[in-house]
Amino acid sequence: MRQYPDMSFEDRMDTVDFEVGQRPHITVDSDICRSCTTKECVHACPAKLFVPTGDGGILFNYEQCFECGTCYQICNKAGAITWTYPDGGHGVVFRKG
Ligand code: SF4
Ligand code: SF4
Repeated sequence: MRQYPDMSFEDRMDTVDFEVGQRPHITVDSDICRSCTTKECVHACPAKLFVPTGDGGILFNYEQCFECGTCYQICNKAGAITWTYPDGGHGVVFRKG
């Protein structure tokens, strides 16, 4: 089995760049989120990009998204999350070394 180097999460994330696109590749309909009592996305997103608002909705920022797809998998409310890939040349860029 392949062994990965022992490094911290922060050091690992230092090998990732984000080329932020003009078009959000994920949008969240906060009106739908207001009726969501569980808000799994807040805890599931590894980048902590879903922030509950005082009115029961969600404030979402796509710019530091890892493109892992977790939010799309765990959200049970149809239409709450619209998920596409970033435009070519944008999004996550991995560096080696
Ligand atoms: S994105 Fe989905 S899981 Fe998150 S608050 Fe909205 S409806 Fe709930
Ligand atoms: S794709 Fe992953 S990193 Fe991006 S918003 Fe969803 S859970 Fe967070």
